[in-house]
Amino acid sequence: MTTTTPGAALQALMADLKVLTDIESPSTDPAAIQRVMDVIEGWARDLGAETHALGGGTRVFRFGVPGGAADQTAEKPVLILTHADTVWPHGTLEDMPWRVDGDRLHGPGTYDMKAGIVGLFHALRALHGQWPRGGVTVLLSPDEEIGSPSSREHIERAAHDSRVALVVEPPVADTHALKTGRKGTGSYTLTFTGVASHAGNKPEEGASAITAAAQATLDLQALAQPDLGTTVSVGLIRGGSAVNVIPAHATLEIDLRVSTLAEAGRVDAAVRAWTPHDPRVTVRIDGGLNRPPFEQSEGTLALYEQARAVARELGFDLTHAVVGGGSDGNFTAPVIPTLDGLGAPGDGAHAQHEHVRLDRWPDHVRLLTELLRRV
Ligand SMILES: [Zn+2]
Repeated sequence: MTTTTPGAALQALMADLKVLTDIESPSTDPAAIQRVMDVIEGWARDLGAETHALGGGTRVFRFGVPGGAADQTAEKPVLILTHADTVWPHGTLEDMPWRVDGDRLHGPGTYDMKAGIVGLFHALRALHGQWPRGGVTVLLSPDEEIGSPSSREHIERAAHDSRVALVVEPPVADTHALKTGRKGTGSYTLTFTGVASHAGNKPEEGASAITAAAQATLDLQALAQPDLGTTVSVGLIRGGSAVNVIPAHATLEIDLRVSTLAEAGRVDAAVRAWTPHDPRVTVRIDGGLNRPPFEQSEGTLALYEQARAVARELGFDLTHAVVGGGSDGNFTAPVIPTLDGLGAPGDGAHAQHEHVRLDRWPDHVRLLTELLRRV
């Protein structure tokens, strides 16, 4: 492979990305996340944004948004979703340093999603103040990687105040496809309490929490409907106190993925209605749906077609896909047309080989710029 010197546009993208990557920002460290946000807020102010700090650490930057809530949907702003947290703990840069290898730029949190944020700001700068109708609202979440517990309410409110949502999470690895749907995600913890007894002398007096957990595992995993996109997996199970004791305690944890709200409702009702086969065992059921499914809608497909037409003019083809993992787009898709995957191409989200594809990145920044001119 021949390595050419990156063009000026790419060098500027890389320089900004280096600044954000050098500030490690695990979801568990709010102060570090705020330091990343301070840098991004500086970029936003340079572009004349009105900036707001919301409860829980979320920030909002408004570009050309008229004061007061718009009554007409057509007058509402374009919402752009970003997050400043990463899955990587402090110190990761030592083992996984910033490194350019041919067309690949490696580093923790680059692909997911600091490069998406950098590309967004380069696109916003390229608009030279010609904001889309209704303006642009950029929402910066501090906790997307842990399910957005504090930012969710802000995201949902912003969706109601906006006409479309664009998410600068990375496109699909390798194909660089945009994301027009995502599964919803849920998790449950079942805690079983049985009756302990000597396994040799009085087994009949015991009621096994582990047996109940095993039965629940089989019953609840049977709720999966892979054809409909519903998967149910017991990923963790614990229980018992000693090998010669009928176990009085057990817990299990379930991972749920659904493609439709109807399926989410069906599985949720069935999990909550489950009761132990042995009436002497009791169960407590905690959890539920964390992110609703991002169902592929007409409005989202229309946005995608707009993006695809732009890409064609820029000289490349674009595809789209429905993916299993959730994002903050799952919170806006039930409210407004949402197009996801508008960040930087690459691969290795949450993995050692996380990287951005330098040969493809500038094209995707141009795509976002032109989409913002037309949306
Ligand atoms: Zn992400």
